[in-house]
Amino acid sequence: MIVDHLGRQFRNLRLSLTAACNYACTYCVPDGKRLQAAASELEADEMVRAVRLLMDTAGIDKLRITGGEPLLSPKFDALLPAVMQLGLADVSLTTNGQLLPRKMDLIAAAGLERMNVSLDTLDADKFRDIARSGDLDTVLDGIRLAGEAGIRLKVNMVPMRHVNDDQILPLLDYCLERGIELRFIELMGMGHLQNNPLFDAQFFGMDDILDLIGTRYEYARTDAPFDSTAARFEIPGAGTFGIIANESEPFCRTCTRLRLASNGRLFGCLSNAKSYDFRDVLRLPDTLAMVKLQDVLGQALQDKQLASFRGEVTVMKFIGG
Ligand code: SAM
Repeated sequence: MIVDHLGRQFRNLRLSLTAACNYACTYCVPDGKRLQAAASELEADEMVRAVRLLMDTAGIDKLRITGGEPLLSPKFDALLPAVMQLGLADVSLTTNGQLLPRKMDLIAAAGLERMNVSLDTLDADKFRDIARSGDLDTVLDGIRLAGEAGIRLKVNMVPMRHVNDDQILPLLDYCLERGIELRFIELMGMGHLQNNPLFDAQFFGMDDILDLIGTRYEYARTDAPFDSTAARFEIPGAGTFGIIANESEPFCRTCTRLRLASNGRLFGCLSNAKSYDFRDVLRLPDTLAMVKLQDVLGQALQDKQLASFRGEVTVMKFIGG
């Protein structure tokens, strides 16, 4: 186990299956280009071995499969059943839901119990304006099918001023009616949004979100797990929602996240462009790989911010949101 002076250790791994995405969300990519897969991406079996090595060396016990768009990757079909067999305490998936109707049988058969679907609006026109691709009804269908399969769902929404802030209450109602937890993710100054006036113009923070919700619902803050990134709230008799308040209430001091990008680069912090080559580790047999990993993880842990998220030039979809 590798622990830093704040008592932080890596427990949660975000594995980006591919940098490719079938969307081009305005807050993620600047020019509307749908990003392609990285020139050279790890194979599914290399990723599964990487997860196992990180479980054994760092004590990783939670895995989130993400991307890019993970369901777009041909690796997904082999990787999901394999990681479900590794004995992790928790495996989850973050997807934009566009391919969910097609992949639902495979996901259910693999035994996945939790999933986050990103959805920024229930308005079809706004949906196309933000994602610059995709089809809203297909995502809603995917959410319905996942619910019917008994998968616990969260919906991730990035609220943006004058873009989709009018969708906060409709999306909250939609989620409450279906027993889904809505999670608002404060806009992050990543990639093209770092030091960009657009970030300040569009930022719609925790206080704004709560003020708006307070116009319709009574809510109370509830306890969240120690290393949770989300502040959690309960609407008595109706359900819960969360806010990932990276700007308003930074959670760096309790962060346990580690990220492995599809090209084999390992990141200790979302707000730090520093990364390490996991391919060097994968070239070694297990015992030597674990020795090398101890060293790499010790360095990656030092990359975490002391107090707050500063943003970074790296793009979320590349290092795994
Ligand atoms: N394609 C998948 C999806 O859409 O859920 C997984 C990858 S995506 C990068 C993961 C999450 O990151 C999404 O919920 C997305 O909204 C969020 N995200 C991307 N860029 C962001 C930014 N600049 N600020 C806040 N959230 C962002």
